[in-house]
Amino acid sequence: MPDALPAAPPPLGDLRRPPAVGGGVYVAGDHRDTPSLQGALVSGGRAAAAVLADLGLG
Ligand SMILES: Cc1cc2nc3c(=O)[nH]c(=O)nc-3n(C[C@H](O)[C@H](O)[C@H](O)COP(=O)(O)OP(=O)(O)OC[C@H]3O[C@@H](n4cnc5c(N)ncnc54)[C@H](O)[C@@H]3O)c2cc1C
Repeated sequence: MPDALPAAPPPLGDLRRPPAVGGGVYVAGDHRDTPSLQGALVSGGRAAAAVLADLGLG
């Protein structure tokens, strides 16, 4: 199934990418973390934490 998941070829290294992409836009999903349900959930948590922190609520 081509392109079903974000590519994560070895060596993996740190796949985490920051949720804030500028202009007040925050991005979450498996493409910002490990390509899995776990990665998508962790990425969502990091995005929510970044929004709260940037609002001074974190
Ligand atoms: C066949 C298959 C089996 C898998 N099995 C497992 C497994 O066993 N365990 C595991 O941990 N992970 C598994 N995964 C991976 C897991 O499903 C994904 O990593 C996870 O669903 C990613 O979540 P996400 O929210 O980042 O993206 P997605 O779940 O892909 O959600 C993105 C959403 O955005 C929508 N969208 C896209 N473009 C636009 C647009 N322009 N405008 C509006 N909406 C848009 C899409 O329709 C989709 O609903 C599997 C994946 C596949 C394909």
